[in-house]
Amino acid sequence: MVHIDEKLEPILAEVLRRNAGEEEFHQAVKEVLESLGRVVAKHPRYANHALIERLCEPERQIIFRVPWVDDAGQVRINRGFRVQFNSALGPYKGGLRFHPSVNVGIIKFLGFEQTFKNALTGMPIGGGKGGSDFNPRDRSEGEIMRFCQSFMTELHRHLGEYIDVPAGDIGVGGREIGFMFGQYKRLTNRYEAGVLTGKGLVYGGSRARTEATGYGATYFVQSMLATKDQSFDGKRVVVSGSGNVAIYAMEKVAEFGGKVVACSDSNGYVIDEQGIDLDLVKEIKEIRRERIVEYARLKGSGVHYIKGGSVWDVACEVAIPSATQNELSGNDARTLVRNGVVAVGEGANMPCTPEAVRIFREAGVLFGPGKAANAGGVATSALEMQQNASRDSWTFEQTETRLANIMRDIHDRCAETASDYGAPGDYVLGANIASFVRVAEAMEALGVI
Ligand code: GLU
Repeated sequence: MVHIDEKLEPILAEVLRRNAGEEEFHQAVKEVLESLGRVVAKHPRYANHALIERLCEPERQIIFRVPWVDDAGQVRINRGFRVQFNSALGPYKGGLRFHPSVNVGIIKFLGFEQTFKNALTGMPIGGGKGGSDFNPRDRSEGEIMRFCQSFMTELHRHLGEYIDVPAGDIGVGGREIGFMFGQYKRLTNRYEAGVLTGKGLVYGGSRARTEATGYGATYFVQSMLATKDQSFDGKRVVVSGSGNVAIYAMEKVAEFGGKVVACSDSNGYVIDEQGIDLDLVKEIKEIRRERIVEYARLKGSGVHYIKGGSVWDVACEVAIPSATQNELSGNDARTLVRNGVVAVGEGANMPCTPEAVRIFREAGVLFGPGKAANAGGVATSALEMQQNASRDSWTFEQTETRLANIMRDIHDRCAETASDYGAPGDYVLGANIASFVRVAEAMEALGVI
């Protein structure tokens, strides 16, 4: 069992006290602090100047009202958030999440994770996250547009290509980014392409950005498997979720010779022993915007739809949880281990509970934590910013090659760091320490701010 070094205990106690009730944030901070004991033992100066305390306190937190009018003419109110967590390495960077579960604790956990994830990419980007408790499900396109415009009407004054650069996350895809970019452009009278990423190709987006998170997670798992002389070839794979991350993880797994036999949404999951038909998932999710039960209805025989339940009951050798935080419990992890899982790569942010992570690590399963395994999305956002700054547009191949190299570098840096700190193969420790050291060095250089 890992635990927190006694020098770091008061820091955690203060985080718990100051952010009462924000469980996901506590969970994310705790996981990082558990890894930092070894760093502070080796380099005591990182515990000076309240550096770790400052790293746990967001630089700025913005909470605002988002009024909008629904199709029936009724006025609705949602709450908007942007947590600008850390800008030691570059402008705040991180997605916007529109989901009814969103609250300040969830945005803070995501912003905290993002700071470390972004540091791991090696790109010049700080960490931030935002969103709203707005539920886009069953809303018309007009309602979505009016909501996005109202959201941006307040948020725009806090953004800028050198200040804070949002992108998508759950509930925010290309359509929403387009509406928000349009409103930002209108309000500021500037064509400032680098203020948002995940844009459409015709107005400054990057090729391969849509695919990047799922592709990147698959590249990461491929690198982990290679350390054991294994590959995806012929392996049974389960990917949870059926959104942007899941779809492109499934695509890359199939390209690498693996067979994805199940995927899910928040209502249930489908098993297709023939291998999930990706064109059908894309049609259902990206065009019709319907639920995954439609897959079974349209495909007919040979496909099982299970309402509720856990997709992790489906036996597999590789698991890529790509839905949402804490979706994979300790019990799920036990089932996966019993069924012979060899590698788990977190496509979503913090999808495995602390108990699940412990079970995988103890069972010797290759485990890629989200801040390393799903960093491909934000890394490609940084490539989009690069193209915007140089008014350039790269080919798909060029962009994907950069992504693949970045993911290999992240994998290797995590593995090397874990070995340097006496825990070979421990990617959680490697990712936490490698990213912490990068942010800490920059914070140290910039003085007490
Ligand atoms: N929401 C994504 C993440 O969790 C992408 C953020 C971005 O591209 O800025 O990393």
